[in-house]
Amino acid sequence: MDQAQWQSEALAEAMNVAFALAEDAARDGEIPVGAVVVDRNGAIVGRGRNARESGDPLGHAELFAIREAARSIGDWRLEGTTMCVTLEPCAMCAGALVNARVARLVFAAYDPKAGFCGSLGNLVQDARLNHRLMVEGGFMEERSRQLLQQFFRELRQRNQKLPA
Ligand SMILES: [Zn+2]
Repeated sequence: MDQAQWQSEALAEAMNVAFALAEDAARDGEIPVGAVVVDRNGAIVGRGRNARESGDPLGHAELFAIREAARSIGDWRLEGTTMCVTLEPCAMCAGALVNARVARLVFAAYDPKAGFCGSLGNLVQDARLNHRLMVEGGFMEERSRQLLQQFFRELRQRNQKLPA
């Protein structure tokens, strides 16, 4: 499969898997963020979803997906891979994407409060670093925004129902 074909056929599919992971996270009371790493043939080699409430401050979806991809590829260099994630990565995850040599980043919603792949800064395309990613932001953005809004709306409602 060439790269162009990959883009049209497998990108939405990969992002759908990331969304399913984000929905899993929401069911466990985690902010709904899901991520997958896809190899150059379009196969998903890593999956992750937000798990910070389990007590891990580093429990971001992207880090789980990167770690699983490295294990499955058998190399810390994730050359030729694409990360699809439902929310713009933070500075920590952007740094991990650079360190893992991920080739391309596709994310859904922008995160104006913490995103470091275009919003607050752009760590994944800093010319001073020895690796840069291709970036496509805003892919299936509306779906991610709705998922996040629904999560926070339900969270507020639950908190209001708690006895004083
Ligand atoms: Zn992060």
